[in-house]
Amino acid sequence: MAIVYNPQKYKIEDKPMQAFIDEDEIWQLLHANEDPTIERVREVIAKALNKERLSLEETAVLINANDPALIEEIKAAAKELKERVYGKRIVLFAPLYIGNLCINDCTYCGFRTSNKKQKRTTLTKDDVVDQVKALEDTGHKRLILVYGEHPRYDANFIAESVKMVYGVKHKNGEIRRVNINAAPLDVEDYKIVKEAGIGTYQIFQETYHKETYEKVHQSGTKKHYDWRLTGLDRAQEAGIDDVGIGALLGLYDWRFEVMGLLRHVNHFEAVYNVGPHTISFPRLQSASGLNIDPKYQVSDEDFTKLVAILRLAVPYTGLILTAREPGDIRDEILEYGISQIDGGTNIEMKGYTSHKEEQDLDHEQFQISDNRSLSEVMSELVGNGFIPSFCTACYRRNRTGEHFMEFSVPGFIKRFCQPNALLTLAEYLEDYADETAKEKGYALIKDELGNYEDPKFKDKLIERLEKIKQGERDLYF
Ligand code: SF4
Repeated sequence: MAIVYNPQKYKIEDKPMQAFIDEDEIWQLLHANEDPTIERVREVIAKALNKERLSLEETAVLINANDPALIEEIKAAAKELKERVYGKRIVLFAPLYIGNLCINDCTYCGFRTSNKKQKRTTLTKDDVVDQVKALEDTGHKRLILVYGEHPRYDANFIAESVKMVYGVKHKNGEIRRVNINAAPLDVEDYKIVKEAGIGTYQIFQETYHKETYEKVHQSGTKKHYDWRLTGLDRAQEAGIDDVGIGALLGLYDWRFEVMGLLRHVNHFEAVYNVGPHTISFPRLQSASGLNIDPKYQVSDEDFTKLVAILRLAVPYTGLILTAREPGDIRDEILEYGISQIDGGTNIEMKGYTSHKEEQDLDHEQFQISDNRSLSEVMSELVGNGFIPSFCTACYRRNRTGEHFMEFSVPGFIKRFCQPNALLTLAEYLEDYADETAKEKGYALIKDELGNYEDPKFKDKLIERLEKIKQGERDLYF
């Protein structure tokens, strides 16, 4: 069944590299759908469960559903849809901060240029090698490299650091996919970064509310709202079709930001016929020399609700949740929305080799709440019946828009995603797990093998699992 885009007509027509947010339109949709009837909410849920993308208006209906019983129905539907689209897979990655020099002065960030307490560091080649080896020795295969916004971190610098990371091989360790979180570039510069073999290019708009945006970004290149908003259009123009968007929840009204994220998705679909690869929605956390302004702080109730709404609204887009969130919140929303998490995260500069217990906010961007190691996260995922995955197959088989395939090509998950997740899990168990974790992990793999009706395919999968036990690595479909 093909993807059902919802070709909506907006006040601002979608054009490549042109701003598209109309704030009045967003608020009109939110106000026009206040106090939706139970029937209307259930009608929208049914549409989502029919694998149809929700319109901005339908998303506004779910946002305005405040009856606790209806919110539970929204979460239950999100859980059902997530399992249909993603099965039990949870993709794992780790962030690696390359440099915290920055010319911007974002009021919410520890790296802001006016923060003289922040210790500035840019990783050398040896530092990168040390950090990546440390990450590989825990079992990671997918990284996101993070940069402050500074002329020193230009396209060539980013491309060089990506190549450095791919070049680090330690024992059976290697990084197979490198994503980027960095400043918006122009089309030619994106081509340089693309050439280095990146996966996703991530840019968070932070807030889609222009007045708030200009208030929290008063100086530096980041003060240009439209340049940032169209940043990933230029990436697409340069041939980077895996892009990641995000909003920093707590700067402005979360209902507006969720609508802004959806409007951004609709813009990509309208102009590039492909939605974003991922959506992130980090909640504001304290940072060096900063306290959080509580005005727009998002409660756990609203946060868990909005994740379920996003899952229903964009069923085929990866939803990322990071260690900003505490373990209990993460464990809850893994059930019905999230498809990617980080594990064993340390965001201090050169943090993966410092082994500090306490966070040093004067050497990192913000406070994190989940300090579990990768092996602890793996153990809990397996314990809760999830399949941790380090899969990078589609990216390396050049199966672009793989989320579409997962969604639109019947059986794609069963044929590629689930078995590849099991193969990467087996690698992890052989190279990085202790005996208890290995036993639990292989018990899960055995259970999962029971779900394969096609004996020929099952044999191929078992054969590869055996080869991994014999020492082969990097086997995938
Ligand atoms: S949010 Fe990014 S651009 Fe803004 S101060 Fe922090 S590192 Fe710089």
